[in-house]
Order: sequence, then structure tokens, then C-alpha cells
Amino acid sequence: MSRRAGAGPITPAEPATAADGTPYSAAFDDVYHSTDGALGQARHVFLGGNGLPARWRDRAQFVIVETGFGLGLNFLATWAAWRDDPQRPARLHFVSVEKFPFRPQDLRRMLEPMLVLPGMTELAPLVQRLCDAWPAPVAGWHRLELAPGVVLSVGFGDFFALMPSLRVGADAFFLDGFAPSKNPDMWSADVFKTLGRMARDGATLATYTAAGQVRRDLVAAGFRMERRPGYGRKRDMLAGAYAPPYRMRRYDPPAAPRWRDREAIVVGAGMAGAAMARRLVARGWRVRLFERAQAPGSAASGNPAGVFHPQLSADDNVLSRLTRAGFLYALSQWRALPGGLPGRADGLLQVAGNDAEAHAMAQLMAAHAYPPAYARWVDAAQASALAGETLAHGGVWFPEGGWLAPAMLCRAELVAAGPALDARYGVTVDRLVQCGGRWAAVDGNGQVLAEADVAIVTAADVSQRLLAPYLAPEFVPVRKVRGQLTFLPPDTLPGLRVPVCGDGYVAPSPLAGAGPVTGATYGFDDPAEDVRVADHQANLRRLAALLPAHAKTFGETGLGGERAAAELGGRTAFRALVPDRLPMAGQLPDVAAIEPQQRRLAGAHLRDLPRLDGLYASFAFGSRGLVFASLCAELVASQIEGEPWPVGSELADAIDPARYLMQALRKR
Ligand SMILES: Cc1cc2nc3c(=O)[nH]c(=O)nc-3n(C[C@H](O)[C@H](O)[C@H](O)COP(=O)(O)OP(=O)(O)OC[C@H]3O[C@@H](n4cnc5c(N)ncnc54)[C@H](O)[C@@H]3O)c2cc1C
Repeated sequence: MSRRAGAGPITPAEPATAADGTPYSAAFDDVYHSTDGALGQARHVFLGGNGLPARWRDRAQFVIVETGFGLGLNFLATWAAWRDDPQRPARLHFVSVEKFPFRPQDLRRMLEPMLVLPGMTELAPLVQRLCDAWPAPVAGWHRLELAPGVVLSVGFGDFFALMPSLRVGADAFFLDGFAPSKNPDMWSADVFKTLGRMARDGATLATYTAAGQVRRDLVAAGFRMERRPGYGRKRDMLAGAYAPPYRMRRYDPPAAPRWRDREAIVVGAGMAGAAMARRLVARGWRVRLFERAQAPGSAASGNPAGVFHPQLSADDNVLSRLTRAGFLYALSQWRALPGGLPGRADGLLQVAGNDAEAHAMAQLMAAHAYPPAYARWVDAAQASALAGETLAHGGVWFPEGGWLAPAMLCRAELVAAGPALDARYGVTVDRLVQCGGRWAAVDGNGQVLAEADVAIVTAADVSQRLLAPYLAPEFVPVRKVRGQLTFLPPDTLPGLRVPVCGDGYVAPSPLAGAGPVTGATYGFDDPAEDVRVADHQANLRRLAALLPAHAKTFGETGLGGERAAAELGGRTAFRALVPDRLPMAGQLPDVAAIEPQQRRLAGAHLRDLPRLDGLYASFAFGSRGLVFASLCAELVASQIEGEPWPVGSELADAIDPARYLMQALRKR
């Protein structure tokens, strides 16, 4: 069995009920909840056993970790208790794993009939919301913000592939799942050790079982346990607290930090800065945003259209897992915008360039068996029907891929942030200065623009210069890559329904009366901002290869001819790219603290590096800003707040802004 996060297809749970109507799992030959009443058990065993709701009162955040999500009844009961408690914490995080998740339609099919059971009626709106947000069964962590302040992080896959690498500080544990006799893996000493590594001071734990081995293994993992009266037909249950007799772990889990003012400075109002501001304001922060241009989304994020879809790879590599998490999280964020998504998420085609590529793509799709709601293989005829244009080869259909207008997205995110955001345009931040434990944004005249607990640099390639006093430019190896888009005349490709990508892409018009957008060129070390005929021609050559039925329209005798191409509109902008083509997102390392310990840290892990209090970054999205911006913002906001991270450390490490420094330390 592979334990790497995201490896292998997910096997969904099949909806079934036992003879008495109780939801039942054939895989484990066990029922999903006690027939005496799922909610009663959730309230007695899990909430009561953890001293909830009393224990979450007067806290800003409370984090619960559960083993085995099933139908989500413990989560629903917890959410209802939180909703009904006037002294609830501002944020409730519920983290759970599920190896065999229900498909969205099956979760609804199983939960809706239960709403007639005693006590369930009041859960109806919560059930609807959960079912609406429930993702297709693809591997990895899914972060669902179900109501302001209620965040469910559910990992689809094996417990050991997901939980040990998740950075989370837990206040309570719900040990649920099928009975120890039916599913011993979930009740092993290794599971309990993993939970022990997550426990914050005072963390409590409860479980419906009172099995002796479970109790002994929990004690060995540092939990002090006691028997209590059980629920329904169970005479006993176990409850306890994390209280190891001696220090048992190398790292402490993230604690809830105590910021003085909860004020942040954000530099740059592209899609990185806009998403960052929104994620922080959602957590009750006040944000001072500075942008040197006169409006948000003026630089790379100012293109009229950008396309979005996850990357796929045979070995489900880091880029695939990161773009999957980013794509799904971004969609959930965009759909929650007051005006909805400023574009469309109703399909995108990634087509093969030749027969060999088509064969390899088809094989990859067969091996991964993605749910069709996420990605499916289509042959040339199906692809052509979906695109509304004749395509020479088949490819992958992403039903929720699409395109949107990045500048509109930036504006919409900033509007969604609301009055706690103070955005200043036409203001250039010259440097960030640390003074008295706080950060100051200073302009070119030495004027302090703002002071705050936290500063976040979201300034694309300029981030390198702003961060230079704290992290040498060699460890922020960002390059500017010129890219030109071509705007096709309005009557071009009237049939085109969805974006088509291959080598380059074409997207339907974002504006009524405008033509499709195609691109984009790739020019290293070319800082010129002009729009060039030769670049239009290069874009049109790629487009002709993508849509061979229109080769003449885009060829030398058509739009691709020098005179015709000179008439076309276009836009040039610059991507920010580091060598591994992954974002730089997270907390900056504290180089002054690292230097005296260089020798020791040479063999260390990114987690061992001292970090600079209050300085964070999110940039270097390359050509994938749309799938990266929201997830990177959520990761940084989670780090700032000591909340569970939205991805495991194998992905967070891959985008850690300290990774190039770490590589250099290892070489030394
Ligand atoms: C031609 C082209 C086509 C693309 N197509 C796609 C696509 O189809 N899909 C996709 O997902 N991505 C695409 N991208 C990539 C995407 O546009 C970027 O990844 C994304 O816009 C980066 O967002 P950002 O906020 O990091 O940077 P930017 O949008 O560049 O924003 C950075 C902001 O910081 C501001 N700033 C810088 N320094 C300072 C300072 N000192 N003080 C104040 N403000 C400052 C800048 O003015 C700028 O507004 C494309 C890029 C290009 C160039």
C-alpha cells in the first residue's frame, strides 16, 4: 500500500444500508453510526467526552481532529453546537480523514433520508451546505469553508499518507471510525502517536470504545485516559487528555498566536495580494494594501482572460498535487464571491498534440481513474463536440476548468474583503523595516506608510528586492518572463465554447463583442513592454496547430500574415518564475539566527529553520497564478494564525520561500 499523499486513485464508499436502515459499509462489514442515534452518540461521546462546548468558549479558534469522517455526523453535530453557542470561538477547524469517501451524490443520498430522525431536522441547512461543498473523490486534503468561521479540512486517502505530514495543533480529538475489530489499522499505536504529535497544551480526546488495547496504546502515546459511561448499548467509553509524563516529541504543534493588533501590510495588488487580503480579513484582520499602479490587477494579473485547470502526471507529482489542491480551493473561493466567478468554470480541454501524446494521455487517465467530475479522457470526436470546434486529437476534459478575467477577479476579491481592507493605489513601497517587533512599510522618501504586526510581500518579481535585506537575492532566484497575448477579431472562432489548451491556449472572449484571446509567448531576459507583430505570429502558429481545421485562417495568408497580424490587439505582461517553477509562499527564514548554526542546520529539515517573526511572502506563480493564488494565500494566513495548514508538509515544503536557502545550507 502506498502511503504517499495523493498516490493512487481513491475508492469511493458505496451507499448501502443494513436491514434496519442504518447506513452500512460492506468494505468494513460495520455500520456507520450507532443505531441508538448518531447525534446522541456524537453529543455524548465526542462533544461531552471533550468537555465541549464549554472548553471552546472564550477562545479565538478551536481545532478538532477526527479519525474517520464517514457520513460526517460528528462534524454536523459539532457545527450545530458551535452555531447554537453564543460564546463560540470565532473559528472552528474540523480536520478529518476518510479513505473511502462517498461521492457527492451518494453523501446526499445517505444523509437526506436521515433528516427525519429525531433531532436531525435542525441540521437540514448544515447537511445541504456540506453536500453542496463536498468534493469529488480525488486524493489529498480538501479545505471547505462551510460558513464564515467554520472550516472543514477533509483528507481523502490513507491516514498515514495524510495526517503525519499535516501541520496542525489540535485542541480535541474524536477517535471514531469502524470498530477496532473491523478496522484495526485506525486504532494502532502509530495512529495514536501521530495524534500525540498534534496535541496542543490541554488537548483532550474521546472515543466510543473502551477496548483495553486502545486504552493502553493511548496511554503509551502520552494520553491520560479514564473510563466513562458509554452511550446507548455501550456500557463504557474512554475520555482523557494529552499529558505525557516526559517530553515525547521533537516539534511542538502550531499554537494559536497572540498578535497585538491583528493588522497586516500587504505589498502588491495582483491576484496574490488580493487573495491574501481577503483570506486575512476573513480571519478578522485589518489589512493595509499598497499597490504602485493606479488600480488592482494592473500587471500580470491584468490580462483580459486567463485559463485554469489542474496539471496531471503519470506519477501524480508535486505539481499535480499542488495544482489539484489549488484548483479545487480556488474554485470554492471564487464561487463564494458576491458576484460569483468573473468568468466561467464550465469546462476546459487539454488536447494532445499528436497520436503518441494522445496515447500517453489516455493511458495516464486510465491508470488514475479520476472521477469524471474532475477529469476524463475524451476522443477527438468528443473533444470537438465539447469545444464547438474541430480538433485533430483527443485529450482531457476538465468539467470545472475554465477561464476568467484576472483583473476583475482581483477587484472582486478586494470588494469581498470589505471595510477592514484599506487599499492605497499609486503608492510604491520602497522597503520593509522591522522595528520594535513590528513591520513598517516605507516609501522612497523615507516616509512610513504603515506599521503592522505582519507584512506579506506579494509583489511578483519585485519581491526579490523587497526581501533582499532579510534573504539574499541568490535564495530568491526569481526571473521575469515576458509573455504576449493576442486578441483575435470578434468574429473569429464563433463556435468556440470553452478554452482549448495544448501548446498554448485559446479562450472564448471574456467581454461581449470582443474576440477570443490566444497566447502566450515566453521570453526570458526581455524586459520590453511593447506588443510585437512577430509574437502575434508565433501565437497564431501555435493556434493553427491547436485547431488544424483553421490552419488557413491563422496562417501566412490569413491573420498570421505580417500585415494582418499588425492589425491585431494584444497585451504584454511578465510572469515571475523561479527555477523549479513552483510558488514561493510562506514565512521567511531568519537568516541572522540561522548563520551561527549553519553547521548544525546543514542536515536539518525546513521545519528546523528559525523563522522571521511576522514576515511572509506569496509570489512566483509563473504561468499558473489562477490555481496558485488562493491556496498560497490560505497557507500563509493559516501559518500566521497557527491554524491547520491547507496542505501537507510535502507540498508546503515544495513552495517554502526558504527552500533555496535550505538547499545551499545542505551543499555547504
Ligand atoms: C502573457 C501571460 C499569460 C498568462 N496566462 C495565464 C493563464 O492563462 N492562467 C494563469 O493562471 N496564469 C496566467 N499567467 C500568469 C498569471 O498572470 C500570474 O501568475 C499572476 O498574474 C501573478 O499574480 P501576482 O499577484 O503574483 O503578480 P502581479 O499580477 O504581477 O502583481 C504584483 C503587483 O505588485 C505590485 N508591486 C510590485 N512592487 C511593488 C511595490 N514596491 N510597491 C507596491 N506595489 C508593488 C505590482 O504593481 C503588481 O500589481 C499569465 C501571465 C502572462 C504574462
